Formats: sequence, C-alpha cells, structure tokens
Amino acid sequence: MPLTHDSNLPSIHISMGEQDGQSWLAPGPEKQIIALLDALNDSIFVIDTHWRCTYMNQTAEALVGKTRAELVGKNVWEVFSDATNIPFYTEMHRAVQEKKPAHFETFYQPLGKWFDARIFPSPEGITVTAQDTTERRVTEEHQQALQHQIESEQARLQEVFNQMPGGVVIAEAPGGKILMGNQQVEDIFRHPVLPSPSLHEYNEWAGFHLDNGEPVKSEESPLARAIATGEVVRGEDYEYLRGDGTCCVIRLNAAPIRDTQDNIIAGVVTITDVTEQRELEQRKDEFISIASHELKTPITTIKALTQLLKRKLERQGLTESAASLTKIETNVNKLTRLANDLLDVSKIQAGRLDYAEKSVDMNALMRDIVETAQQISTTHTISLHGMVQKNIIGDGDRLTQVFVNLLTNAIKYSPQANNVDVFLAEEEDKITVSMQDYGMGISKEEQAKIFDRFYRVSDEKHLSVPGLGMGLYIACEIVKRHGGDITVTSEEGKGTTFFVSLPFGTHVGV
Ligand code: ADP
Repeated sequence: MPLTHDSNLPSIHISMGEQDGQSWLAPGPEKQIIALLDALNDSIFVIDTHWRCTYMNQTAEALVGKTRAELVGKNVWEVFSDATNIPFYTEMHRAVQEKKPAHFETFYQPLGKWFDARIFPSPEGITVTAQDTTERRVTEEHQQALQHQIESEQARLQEVFNQMPGGVVIAEAPGGKILMGNQQVEDIFRHPVLPSPSLHEYNEWAGFHLDNGEPVKSEESPLARAIATGEVVRGEDYEYLRGDGTCCVIRLNAAPIRDTQDNIIAGVVTITDVTEQRELEQRKDEFISIASHELKTPITTIKALTQLLKRKLERQGLTESAASLTKIETNVNKLTRLANDLLDVSKIQAGRLDYAEKSVDMNALMRDIVETAQQISTTHTISLHGMVQKNIIGDGDRLTQVFVNLLTNAIKYSPQANNVDVFLAEEEDKITVSMQDYGMGISKEEQAKIFDRFYRVSDEKHLSVPGLGMGLYIACEIVKRHGGDITVTSEEGKGTTFFVSLPFGTHVGV
C-alpha cells in the first residue's frame, strides 16, 4: 500500500545519490544534517511512500545489522520479509492510514532484539526512530522472573506456615519489621499481629516474665536476641495478656536467618500456646505435693506401730512373727523414702526445699555413707579412696541424700559387677566426690536427660531396675544450691562415673 500524502508531523527528506561509499550524500547543508544524524544514539530510517528506505543513519546500520548499501533504495518489507507479522508492520501501516505518529516496543525474532520504535508519518512517507532496548528488557525480564520466583517461594513458605500447628513470625534484621507470619499467631494472641510495623511494638504486647511478672523488654525477647547474637534460643516460656483480656503462657523458640555471606538478615520465632500444658503440670505438681503429705502421716504411724509390735513379739519369743514384721518394716522404709522424695520434688518445684548451713566434714560424711551402704550390700565391695583437709559449708543431711542416691544407683545399675569406687579429692577451691561403677552405663544421648524430673533411661536393662527418676533431679538441685555442679561420664556396658564438685566457702542457696 503506498503512503498517503497529508501530515503536519515531523519529517525528514533526504535526497538519494549513488550508493557507493559517501556518494549517496547530497551536497550542501544536508551534509551537516547527515553528520548530525549519524552522531545520534537513536537509529533513524526514512521511508518513502513506496516503502522504500531513502535514508538510514549509522546507528541504524548497527541496529539492523545491514549496511546502507544493502537497504537504502530497497523496499523494507522485501528486505525484512519476516517482519510482516510483528507490530512494526501493523503499527507502521496504521500510522500511515491514520496519519498519526505511533510509539511501541516490539521484539524482532530474526535479530533477537527488542526495539523501542517511534513512527512519524508525513506526506513524503514515514520516519522511524528506534532504539535497541534488548539489554533493558532482558534486565527487566530477569528482574520480573526473580520477583516471580521470590513471590512464589514466599507463597510456598506461607503455605508451609499455614500448615504448621503453632504460630510463626519472620522479622527483618536489625529493625525487627515483621515480614511474615501465620494465622495461628493471631489465634494464640487473639490480637491482630500482621501486618505489624515492628518487632518493637510486637514486644510491647508480647508478654511478661513468668518468674517475676515483669514485662519483656524488646531487646530481651527471644527473637530480638536471636537476631542480635546469632544464637538459637530454645523453649522459653512467657506469660501473655491476650487481646481478649485472658492470660496464656506461650513457649518461644527463635533462630537467626542468614544470607549467603553469613550476615543475619532476619529472625524466625515459633510460638506455641502451652497454657493448658502448664495448667496440667501445675495440677500434677499440686497432686504430688498433697499426695506426699497425705502419705507421710499413715506411713509414720505404720512404722511406729510395726516397731512397737516387733519389740513386743521379740520379748514374747515369737521370733518368726517378729521376722515378718521386719519385712514389713523394710517395705515401710521404702515407702518412707518414696514419700520423702515426692515431697522434695514438690518442694523444689515450689522453691521451698530447706537447707541448713553448717561446717561439713566430708571425710566423716563419706565414711558413714560408705560403711552404711556396705552393711546393706551383699553384692558389691564399696571402697572409699582419698581424703580432704578442709570442711565445706553446707547441709550434711542434704549432701548425704545426694551421695546415698548416687551410691544406691551405682549398686543397682551394676548388677553384674562386684565393686563400686568412691573418690574424695580436694582442689584449691573445691572438693570433688567421684562415684564410679562398672555397670550397664548410660548412652551419650541419655546422659543429658537423666537429671530431668521423673526421667528414666527407657531401655530394657535400665527399666528392669526399680526406680522413679527422682533421685538425680533432687541431687542436682541440692548440689546446685551448694554452688556446686554434678556431671557424668559413662560408657555403655563399661560403667558410669558421677562427679560432684562442692566449692569451699559458698553459702547454701547462693
Ligand atoms: P531412678 O530412681 O530411676 O534410679 P534417678 O533419678 O536416680 O532415678 O536416675 C535417673 C536415671 O538415670 C535412672 O532411671 C537410670 O536410667 C539412670 N542412671 C542413674 N544412675 C545410673 C548409673 N549409675 N548407671 C546407669 N544408669 C544410671
């Protein structure tokens, strides 16, 4: 279709010369114009009413990969025959028909390039200016693909979050701006959390310390600490006043999130509502406390009456009946120990375990313990090694409780062995008592747990030995109250050694 001749729009008309070398340039002022056009960054094509290219600047040569000799004077749709089904063709024809300039961006497959093109129709034909926008488009497409990838990963992450049983929040480092969270967070707090401007505000209503009821400061929260220190914070409980005015206890775990250069860029916190669990534990503790108190009175009565009856029967020469009462007495003693342990556990829970503060001669204390244990044990030889020079300050009865428990364990968890060794050693600032047995041992994973309340190693060998998992918990608490510590080394099938260190000069309860 030839171009129509009617427009006030900008146009450039350049005379054609020979197509060899520079000879296609017209003489006169046009020469300067041509030089100027060649210097432009934009490609310029001038096309006449018969779709013949009458001029193209140097930039245009580079853009389409054709020399002026190849294109000037030719019908552009013949040279670019494969461009007839892209916007170039339709837009150029439309601009001509409507006599209106056009602006569009299009991809031209044969050259693998994006063009930003403007078309200006005029009575003499059309002028096309074009820029190669491939680099920008590729960058944009790359960014879009990246953005899309981020968005779809975020959506996937959100989906995972939504499936989680508890609440999850991700906050930006260092400001603490909350980036993501799930519905469960709001369900737990009964309070709109997301979008929440920052961790700081989040913390203001996040909770109170369980032990003293003080509000949690923003920099103290597990998430803020994980972001600030890079450490993982595990299982911390806080009380929280929910949006509806009720109280709950939440358990928080927090961890930092790092980029590939190891910089902390965010933090994640998981939130579990442990209110019911805590209430249940509290009720269990109360039950233990009441039950152990209630057990003590009848046990004491039974014990006193048994002793009385035994003495009476012995006086009457009824030794056989008296022996049966001895068995009753032994079992009542076991019951007494059990009730006492239960009582101690509930006192520890309530922070009410009493301690006396006296000078304790550890040589005498350990000698008594070992001698008494030796009198009872028919299976093991218990040897005490070493002596110390100085006394410690503490509660002798409570320390006896610790070492009796360790020694009883050493004997009962080494049924195939014949010996238990007890070592007493003194260092500059502390006394260490080591209790070594040659029994079944404790696996590495279990060693960290055996000091927990009611914890028992749950393999067949250990469970064949009677016990309730209270002794080490009580022992650990007593030793800690003396400012000391208790540790264990053990090898399965070879034996176990417990080490109790007690410092000189520390007051009980410090
Ligand atoms: P228990 O009444 O069950 O003995 P403890 O609190 O004294 O309770 O000990 C906790 C657990 O630690 C025991 O159930 C046992 O599995 C393990 N344990 C303690 N002492 C030893 C030991 N000397 N050798 C092997 N296992 C031990």
